Amino acid sequence: MGRPKKVFVFDIDNTIALTYPSFFIPYSNDFQRYACLAIYPAMRSYVVELINRGERIFYFSARPWYVFPTTYKWLKSQGIIRSLNQLYTVPNVKDKIKLLSCFPLQTQIYYFDDLSYNHENGMVKFYTDVINSIRSMKNVKYFGIDTIQYLQGLWYEREHFHKICPI
Ligand SMILES: [Mg+2]
Repeated sequence: MGRPKKVFVFDIDNTIALTYPSFFIPYSNDFQRYACLAIYPAMRSYVVELINRGERIFYFSARPWYVFPTTYKWLKSQGIIRSLNQLYTVPNVKDKIKLLSCFPLQTQIYYFDDLSYNHENGMVKFYTDVINSIRSMKNVKYFGIDTIQYLQGLWYEREHFHKICPI
């Protein structure tokens, strides 16, 4: 028997991209706003390391379908995506559960998603039902806001990532 397959799935907004401050800037439309987002350098470094290791990476984003091309271009400009089928946009956060369940049960999924909202109003809230559903999936190892904020705040140092992140 071969080794079980594994995949790494990342949310974009407020996980790898610094999205919430963009709501304070008066962009004329979503295309412009999403095209100009800053990335968390340490998160980018982590994803790049996974890519260099040959891991399979996917991005799940609850964004409108019409910003798919903008989102893809942004990931491309950051050097963290190679093909269109690594990116999925869904209309609702709950739909990410359906997307995760599309992977075969034998596939181990490492899933990084803050699953939070309302940062821009100063009081972070969580999609608790979605988090609970994802935590109950046997083939998903979920990394939530605590791990993500820790990663975001790190200057990239290989040994730090290896302590807390799956190999
Ligand atoms: Mg998010």
